[in-house]
Amino acid sequence: MLEGISRRLTDILRNVAGKGSISEKNVQDAVEEIKVALLEADVNLRVVRRFVNQTIEEAKGEKVLRSVDPGQQFVKIIYDRMVEFLGDSRQDLQLKGPDTLSVVLLLGLQGSGKTTTAAKLAGQLKKEGRRPLLIAADLVRPAAVEQLRLLGEQVGVEVYSEERTDPIRVVREGMKHAARGLFNTVIVDTSGRMHLDAPLMEELKSIRSASNPDETVLVADAMSGQQAAEIAKEFDEQVGLTGVILTKFDSDARGGAALSVKTMTGKPIKFVGTGEKLSDLEPFYPDRIASRILGMGDVVTLVEKAQATIDAREAEELQRRVESETFTLEDYLAQFARLKKMGSVRAVLEMIPGVQGKIDEDQIDEKELKREEAMIQSMTREERKNYRIIGPSRRKRIAKGSGTSVHDINHFLKKFEKVRLMMKKAVKNKKYQANMLSQLGA
Ligand code: GDP
Ligand code: MG
Repeated sequence: MLEGISRRLTDILRNVAGKGSISEKNVQDAVEEIKVALLEADVNLRVVRRFVNQTIEEAKGEKVLRSVDPGQQFVKIIYDRMVEFLGDSRQDLQLKGPDTLSVVLLLGLQGSGKTTTAAKLAGQLKKEGRRPLLIAADLVRPAAVEQLRLLGEQVGVEVYSEERTDPIRVVREGMKHAARGLFNTVIVDTSGRMHLDAPLMEELKSIRSASNPDETVLVADAMSGQQAAEIAKEFDEQVGLTGVILTKFDSDARGGAALSVKTMTGKPIKFVGTGEKLSDLEPFYPDRIASRILGMGDVVTLVEKAQATIDAREAEELQRRVESETFTLEDYLAQFARLKKMGSVRAVLEMIPGVQGKIDEDQIDEKELKREEAMIQSMTREERKNYRIIGPSRRKRIAKGSGTSVHDINHFLKKFEKVRLMMKKAVKNKKYQANMLSQLGA
């Protein structure tokens, strides 16, 4: 995500940051390049103009040009401004306490990701301890109700639906059902259209009156660029919004939507959808996105993600196994599961500073990981525990069982041996460093 704009801006800033002194002309040139990059990222023209005017004014000030590190001051100005344009600070959903019913109304164009997002959100709120109910109020799209029901099942959230009726009635009855049951959070999935039209707006207004939502959130496709901001503006004027969720952020290399929405509508981006899986919904942190766009690496997100998935004790145990050379193919397999929970290997690595932008698709081959998984799954327990016993005839059997070749198995076992060695070294190094630091009193 955001690779396109990030590459451009990182280059421009690197160029300026490296200069010991900068002139007014340098500033002018850099800002001009940033302007082009933003326009290419499909940021709305008015937003770009405002961005450019504000940064130029600030960057040309005496404080910057005469400072000791003008390049870095300049980068800081761009960073701060970008955080501001992305929405300043994290804006969470504003819901009532657990004893009162809260309502989130999701709306947007067809295919923007409303139904998927409804389920993702329900799953997340449930994890946070709320008791969500999904209401299927899209009666236009064929099988939309069924889609929501299936997704609801996957996140373990009940879906309220009615056959052959109208959406306003479904919402009214759904609200009653929620009040009767033990639910405290209602999420309403509505129908969309290919384009904005009057009947849709009327329907949404009626649904809004029937549900009295705490949050009315537009779900918009990030890939539509500044158009997402235009759509948000329209929905806000007609129905009223409290925020925006940008979906397909994983496929958006440009960032135009994220950079335009807040300035054009005044509404904050609350979450971003980062994949098709139901766990792919992330809070939107303007500062982290800004550092990602400017190539500063998003360490915090990485740490949080890792913490959520890796149990500390598990990690210690793993380290012990690595050290004592009892790290087996079984452990290796367990790491896959962990990586899958975190999303793709690539998604994880992308967040490490220094690594950003340096991985190409063939360096981390997720297909290969899948193949390795198949190989391990075709091994017996004994073999998984001790890879050294895997001789030629066993290799042949495993190759057959996993749909690979003996050559593949040879290659993989060699790699596994190497990985073990590397891990051992890494653990040793870490211990060594920790030791040195404590001796230095750090
Ligand atoms: P709706 O018509 O607004 O309800 O949209 P859907 O929820 O049915 O989603 C349309 C398509 O977009 C589906 O194929 C989803 O899997 C996909 N989708 C939704 N959110 C995301 C996302 O954050 N990332 C990606 N890559 N795909 C998404
Ligand atoms: Mg839908």
